[in-house]
Amino acid sequence: MNQKKNILKKRVSNRRYPLRKCKKPDCQVNYVPTDARQIYCCEQHRVDFNNDKRKEKEAVTLLFLNKVKSNEAILKKVKTSDHYTKYRCVKKDLLDYEGYDFTYYHQILINKKTGCEGHVCFDYILELVDPIELLFIIKKKSENEL
Ligand SMILES: [Zn+2]
Repeated sequence: MNQKKNILKKRVSNRRYPLRKCKKPDCQVNYVPTDARQIYCCEQHRVDFNNDKRKEKEAVTLLFLNKVKSNEAILKKVKTSDHYTKYRCVKKDLLDYEGYDFTYYHQILINKKTGCEGHVCFDYILELVDPIELLFIIKKKSENEL
């Protein structure tokens, strides 16, 4: 039984595979794989490809953090403005004008009293209070949790 298994294994490893293209995008090498799972022409290209993928991921994370940070700065600026102090709310137009990006936030919080949805950007929460007029209020997270 065991011997049979070994013979089978040996047969598989002796198999000839057709030429393959290396998975590293900028590598033009066609190679003969020694194993069905081999997807790179050499060990270095496997390492390079995984490093590139990691760097790409880090760049996406950095972009996300910068966008949320920028949103937080806009919320802080608007909340402390004379306009906001007077009206206690802000229209979507103004947030758009300031460059607020509604697609970036850490978390969604639902206001338990009103059922309104709030988007969290670090220490600030943008809460939609009037979906028809597109009116928002801005809260500090630290105050909200009190
Ligand atoms: Zn390669």
